[in-house]
Amino acid sequence: MAKIRIKDILDGKYAGQKITVKGWVRTFRNDRFIALNDGSCLANLQVVIDFEQYEEAFLKKITTGASLAATGTIVESPGKGQAWEMQAESVAIIGLSDPDKYPLQPKKHSLEFLREIAHLRVRTNTFGAIYRVRHNLIYAVHKFFHEKGFYNVHTPIITGSDAEGAGEMFTVTTLDFDNLPRTPEGEVDFKEDFFARHTKLTVSGQLEGETAALGLSEIYTFGPTFRAENSNTSRHLAEFWMIEPEMAFYDLDDNMALAEEFVKYLVRFALDHCADDLAFLAKRLADEEKQKPQHQRQEMGLLEQLHFVADNDFERLTYSEAIEILRNSKPNKKKKFKYLIEEWGADLQSEHERYLVEKHFKKPVILYNYPASIKAFYMRLNEDGKTVAAMDVLFPGIGEIIGGSQREERYEVLLQKIEMLGIDAQELDWYLDTRRFGTAPHSGFGLGFERLMQFITGMGNIRDVIPFPRFPGHADF
Ligand code: ATP
Ligand code: MN
Repeated sequence: MAKIRIKDILDGKYAGQKITVKGWVRTFRNDRFIALNDGSCLANLQVVIDFEQYEEAFLKKITTGASLAATGTIVESPGKGQAWEMQAESVAIIGLSDPDKYPLQPKKHSLEFLREIAHLRVRTNTFGAIYRVRHNLIYAVHKFFHEKGFYNVHTPIITGSDAEGAGEMFTVTTLDFDNLPRTPEGEVDFKEDFFARHTKLTVSGQLEGETAALGLSEIYTFGPTFRAENSNTSRHLAEFWMIEPEMAFYDLDDNMALAEEFVKYLVRFALDHCADDLAFLAKRLADEEKQKPQHQRQEMGLLEQLHFVADNDFERLTYSEAIEILRNSKPNKKKKFKYLIEEWGADLQSEHERYLVEKHFKKPVILYNYPASIKAFYMRLNEDGKTVAAMDVLFPGIGEIIGGSQREERYEVLLQKIEMLGIDAQELDWYLDTRRFGTAPHSGFGLGFERLMQFITGMGNIRDVIPFPRFPGHADF
């Protein structure tokens, strides 16, 4: 028999029918009311049992965390809070759960505690909601691009190129650490390694994505990405998922327009398809905000914030304009910024990005035309000879959510840049082929999926929007 989902029962699809439902017990009150959850939605199904039917010893087995099957009729619920409930004729325990040992008691647990039991936290309201929103957004990413005629491309996870420069990398090796092969110079001899070269986990699929765009025109990647930066922040993971579209014949303006359309689509998709979960997460966030002192509270609630982003144009301004605003800003003059903005050319920190978004413009901002010196080698040099056609999308509460650029398509200019930075051009020969044979203007960007998840769910820590977070010192589960 096909499994019946609690979501469908609560939507009224089984009114008056006798069915069997399976799930996990959230609570059991008065030997009579079982709140059953199967993860298909936030809400529990109330299963009403007649305790006189059962032995005392059996009732004791209906504990929080146990799994069971209940058979009975779906009737309109006289109780508050739910439209439908089950009048159960029989209940069978499927999996016992020792109530003294089960860590998820029906009370509020801290997010820190739940992180330590990441294998069980999916059974809480908060994480059930996060997992479901995450699924919906993954689906929306593919739907958006598919409908636009983009092709999804799988780029390698193990890479031999370390020229991407996006961050510190993890080595992938099968060498025996107790007996490392050495070159005559005494260095580790990666020629002896599995791939006969030094390989790492990728920090981005972009370079391979570019080669695909220069044949398929419009592509996107959506894969795991790894960075070994030792940054213990609430916005960095060592393993995260990134969406990287790459488009031939797009300039920077086209790129910014696509980025804005894309994030707005994703936010709207979540609002349209995850209403119950988002309402729950909004309440969770509002409760959390109440714990903060007045001046630190966010002005907008989660849903307001999501509607605001979906419905308003992002502010676009150049890096140079942003530097002027920051230089003259109160926190800069009063030396409140940790990194003061003095000169053109300074790299922007998250505190500056958040000032622009949260205090100055009060909406998402796209900054473009950054100094060449603080951006990657593949970004296209502008006419002024000192800026590149880069763009970052900055979001409230998060800072950078997207980083992208128009790519340098001119072979000579690119080669010069590579040599200037001391990057081994031989290593990038395959990449340079794209500029040798039918080169074309093209652009792309990277959206950090978990940063988007943070924004949409209102979760403050990125470790709580991915099922099993990887960060310094933590690779459990
Ligand atoms: P940041 O300056 O915030 O560390 P970045 O400039 O290193 O980011 P990019 O190389 O431009 O990031 O990567 C593209 C996108 O990937 C970023 O805009 C962000 O959304 C996401 N991202 C980057 N690093 C991480 C990380 N360690 N964990 C989660 N997401 C990340
Ligand atoms: Mn970036």
